[in-house]
Amino acid sequence: MTPAERPALALLAELRAIVGPENVLVDPERLVPYGKDESDLGEFPPDVVVRPATAKEISRLLVLCGERGVPVTPSAARSGKSGGCLPVRGGVVLSVERMNRILEIRREDLVGRVEPGVVTGDYMKAVEAVGLFYPPDPASLAFCTIGGNVAENAGGPRALKYGVTRDYVLGLELVLPTGEILRTGKETIKGVAGFDLTALLVGSEGMLGVVTEITTQLLPLPREVQTALCLFPDTERASRAVSAVLAAGVLPRALELIDDVAIRASRVAKAPFNFPEGCGAALVAEVDGNLAEACARELERVGEICAREGALDVLLAQNEGQRRDLWETRRRVSVNLKSLHPMKISEDVAVPRSRIPELVAAVQAIGRKLGLEVACYGHAGDGNLHANVLYDRKEERPRVDEAVAELLRAAVAMGGTITGEHGVGLAKKELLGLEQSPELIALQRRIKALFDPKGILNPGKMFPGER
Ligand SMILES: Cc1cc2nc3c(=O)[nH]c(=O)nc-3n(C[C@H](O)[C@H](O)[C@H](O)COP(=O)(O)OP(=O)(O)OC[C@H]3O[C@@H](n4cnc5c(N)ncnc54)[C@H](O)[C@@H]3O)c2cc1C
Repeated sequence: MTPAERPALALLAELRAIVGPENVLVDPERLVPYGKDESDLGEFPPDVVVRPATAKEISRLLVLCGERGVPVTPSAARSGKSGGCLPVRGGVVLSVERMNRILEIRREDLVGRVEPGVVTGDYMKAVEAVGLFYPPDPASLAFCTIGGNVAENAGGPRALKYGVTRDYVLGLELVLPTGEILRTGKETIKGVAGFDLTALLVGSEGMLGVVTEITTQLLPLPREVQTALCLFPDTERASRAVSAVLAAGVLPRALELIDDVAIRASRVAKAPFNFPEGCGAALVAEVDGNLAEACARELERVGEICAREGALDVLLAQNEGQRRDLWETRRRVSVNLKSLHPMKISEDVAVPRSRIPELVAAVQAIGRKLGLEVACYGHAGDGNLHANVLYDRKEERPRVDEAVAELLRAAVAMGGTITGEHGVGLAKKELLGLEQSPELIALQRRIKALFDPKGILNPGKMFPGER
C-alpha cells in the first residue's frame, strides 16, 4: 500500500514527532491485535497505531489527522462486544494504553481521578485498599479500562443496587476531534451548571471526543458481603423468582441468572462450582452492608422467596474461596458456552424487570422456531440479560442473524432496549431504528457533527447506513 492509498502512512514523520518513534506502530504483525475486539465481527487492521501519553499529544494528532482527513479510532483494552474500537475505515488507532496512572484518591472527598487506560479491577483494588468502593463491576474488570467503561457506560452485576458507570463519573477531561482540550463536570456530588455534557459523553462510544482523565465519586466500602447460590429445577422458575425477590422490596447488590444451557456448559467446561444433578437453573444472589446479621437476614429473605418459587436448594458461600468460586462460575459462562458450540452471538438486551420471565420464554421460543440453541444468563436483577445464540458453522449465520433480530424486536416490544451495556458500535448500527425514531437518530447525528465536523473520530459506527 502506498501513502496515496492509505493517507495515514503519509503522516508517519509527523506522528513520530508528536509521540516519539517507539510509539508509532506500522509493522503489520503489531497492528493485527488492534484490529480485533471481543465482538467476533472480524478483523480490521489499522494503518498505524499511535500510543500517546498526554492530552496535548492527542490534541496535536487529532488536529493533524483532521487536516488530512484521516480517521482516528480510540482504543483501550479491546474487550468491547459491539466493535466500538474497530478501525473500520483504517487510518489511525489511538491507543490509550500508556495513559494508565491513578492520579489521586481523596478519602475525605470520596473522589478519585484516573487516566483512561487504568484497568478497572486495579482501580477497584486501589480504592478498596483505603476503605473505599468503586461499584461498577463489568465481568471483564480484570482487563477492561475505566476509559472504555466510560465510553460504553459499562455496567455489571452490582448495577442492580449501585447503578452503572455514568452514576460514578463526576467529570471528564477530553480532547475534541478539533483538538480543543476541555474539562466537563465537577468534583462535587451536586452541581447543575450548564448542560450535563459529562452525562452525554459517558456512553458516547468514542465518537465525540477522546477521554484523557476521569474523576469518579467513590463510596465507603461496605464491611460485609454475603453470597448465595439458589438452585432451581428449571429456568422458568428461576426467572420468576427474580421478579418475586424485587417485588418483595428486597434489593440485593446482585441477582444473576444462569440458565439450563449455561449450566450444561459449566458442567462440560468443569467450572469451579459443580452443579448437582437435577439443577436446571440458578441465581447468584449477593447482599452487602455494614452489619453481618442484617446481611444474613436479607439473604435469608431472598432464600425464602426463592424456595416459595420452587428452588431446590439455597447454598450460602461459607468463606471467600467459595464466594470466588461462585462468581468465577458465573463470569466464565460466556466463555464456557463455547464448549457446547464453537460460535455464538451474545446479545445484551434489557427489559423492565417484571418482564424477565417473558423475555426468557421469548428467547427460548425463537431458538426452538429457528432450530438454534440459545442461552440466557446475566444481570437478570436489573433486567439486562445476555441472550446468546449458539451455532456450529458459518453457514448457519443467516439463521443466527434472524434469531438476533427477532430477539431484539421482542425486547423492544416489551418496553426494553437493544443494548443494556455493550453499546451499539458496529454490531447494532443497522438495528438502532428498532428502538429509536428517525428524528431522534437525526438529532444524534447533528450532535456528532457539532463535536466532530470533519467526521474523523471513530467513523462508521452507531447510526444506520454509516460506512
Ligand atoms: C468476558 C467479557 C465480559 C464482559 N462483561 C461486561 C459486563 O459485565 N458489563 C459491560 O458493560 N461490559 C462487559 N463487557 C464488554 C467490555 O468489557 C466493556 O464494553 C468495556 O467497557 C470495554 O472497555 P475496553 O477498555 O476494553 O474498551 P475498548 O473495547 O477498547 O473500547 C470500547 C469503546 O470505547 C472507546 N474508547 C476507549 N477508550 C476511550 C477513550 N479514552 N476515549 C474515548 N473513547 C474511548 C472505543 O473507541 C470503543 O468505542 C465484557 C467483555 C468481555 C470480553
